[in-house]
Amino acid sequence: LVSRETKPENTVVRMGGVAIGEGRPVLMAGPCAVESLEQCMAIGKSVKESGAEMFRGGAFKPRTSPYSFQGLGEEGLKILAAVREETGLKIVTEVMDNETFDLVEEYSDMVQIGTRNMQNFALLRRAGLAKKPVMLKRGMSATIEEWLMAAEYIMERGNDQIVLCERGIRTFAMHSRNTLDLSAITVVRKESHLPVITDPSHAGGHRCQVGPLARASAAMGVDGMMIEVHNDPAAALSDGGQSLYPHQFSKLAQQIFDIHDLV
Ligand code: PEP
Ligand code: MN
Repeated sequence: LVSRETKPENTVVRMGGVAIGEGRPVLMAGPCAVESLEQCMAIGKSVKESGAEMFRGGAFKPRTSPYSFQGLGEEGLKILAAVREETGLKIVTEVMDNETFDLVEEYSDMVQIGTRNMQNFALLRRAGLAKKPVMLKRGMSATIEEWLMAAEYIMERGNDQIVLCERGIRTFAMHSRNTLDLSAITVVRKESHLPVITDPSHAGGHRCQVGPLARASAAMGVDGMMIEVHNDPAAALSDGGQSLYPHQFSKLAQQIFDIHDLV
């Protein structure tokens, strides 16, 4: 179902007035984790002004250590809803398990399945019944076939509103958190009709790598990007080192749109 052979024309994923896959890249920006209403409002207003159409932020966080900040849960979802109310930005947030799926689906405009859950088949099946679009991040060691088959699980249950997100894969490189697999984008585009975006933040893992990877993604003609932005990265509860300052995001967003217009 996800194959271009089955459906030659590009899929466009729509959330109200926001369309992913229609040309202009859709920027999703915000903090790694929802920390407070004040934090999210400040970041939300700023990224909206910079041209973002969606707000990102995790309320349920898949952290490597059980002792790290795990997210605010439902309280975080309520904060996200307040940001949508105030700014008009659409909300994308991660769902980690079937127990909390109804809750996350209710508050979000797009549900995110993270790299660690790309082959959580129970979760994929539930996402296939969702009434909201799904962003499916590539598993950190997944082949393109495994990634597309994960999307197939979602579509097989009836949900054809899927966005694929390349967020970097694990390689021998120690100089960046992950390796952004730009060449995967051309292959996925050829094999599938689904929109493809990148996440330069989790790929690079360091603030200084985000801009270059984002500009490279724009040159690849991606349908959007997810970028972490924080108003006080040094105090961030998660991924502060890769979060852009709002003024950096503002400049980068303009560059992304300019590059898109060029290619
Ligand atoms: C995220 O986007 O919040 C996240 C945890 O990303 P990933 O699943 O790509 O690690
Ligand atoms: Mn993060």
